[in-house]
Amino acid sequence: MFHSGFVAIVGRPNVGKSTLLNKLVGQKIAIVSSKAQTTRHRIRGVLSREDAQVVFLDTPGIHKPLHLLGEQLVKSAVSTLAEVDLVIFMVDGRTSAGRGDRYVAELVSQVKKPVLLVMNKLDAGKAEPEIEASYLELGEFTGKHVISALYGKGVENLVKDLIARMPEGPAFYDPEEVTDQTVRTLAGELIREQVLRLTSEEVPHSVAVRVDQFEERHHGPTYIHATIFVERDSQKGILIGHKGEMLKKIGTQAREGITKMLDTNIFLELHVKVLANWRKEANSLRRLGYIVE
Ligand code: GDP
Ligand code: MG
Repeated sequence: MFHSGFVAIVGRPNVGKSTLLNKLVGQKIAIVSSKAQTTRHRIRGVLSREDAQVVFLDTPGIHKPLHLLGEQLVKSAVSTLAEVDLVIFMVDGRTSAGRGDRYVAELVSQVKKPVLLVMNKLDAGKAEPEIEASYLELGEFTGKHVISALYGKGVENLVKDLIARMPEGPAFYDPEEVTDQTVRTLAGELIREQVLRLTSEEVPHSVAVRVDQFEERHHGPTYIHATIFVERDSQKGILIGHKGEMLKKIGTQAREGITKMLDTNIFLELHVKVLANWRKEANSLRRLGYIVE
């Protein structure tokens, strides 16, 4: 008997959703950042076992809409929930429930789906009873898990539980496939990841990456040309850095990540462009692929 289904991983920003997703599918398909709110695309990860397939949706961190991009993120998160068989409500198990967790729990309770409480970042393996209680009172949970997504602790148990909860059904994807994201998109995300990692606080929220050219060549490295968009000249200055050193660093690190993903040599060319207020302008968002119609 084969089991298959869809699972959404939700939780406030920074609880470890992307880390878990990467662990589950055994490959880096979602960027991980210590800065909140970094996942913009709905990423599907596919976990294939002999007797089951679980398709994961990594929803962007749900938060109150602050500007247009925020609204798009929230819309996509809620519509994701309507499509799944099970919701993983992920929290930081080291600290008690806060406003962000409550807000996500409220959204989750609007769709009538079974919800698993997953308490993450418990690298040492236990949850404090009063912390656990603060989460349990946020909703009705069909089960709970204590995990460390970073170190893989409790993840296999979680997988077994997920599989057991999936309905009978066929495989939706080729078992070789781990995501439906194009390598082009993933390359852009890996570049954005390095921008977030290497630059100061004022840059991250106003950065977008567009991959302009992605050319696999029979001889020589794959050629990738990408543009990093920022909102202000000052941010462009930060990204380029003194004598272009920052951009060089971003390029070197991103190239390393992309090379690993593609398993081939690449030639990466990066440009930085100022596109004022791109977050507020629907047209710009559309151009960058954040609005799907
Ligand atoms: P997301 O915003 O929910 O997708 O969170 P990320 O997966 O990007 O992770 C946010 C931060 O938490 C990163 O710095 C991760 O390395 C860290 N993190 C994720 N899982 C764990 C964990 O199990 N233990 C610890 N100590 N840190 C974790
Ligand atoms: Mg994420």
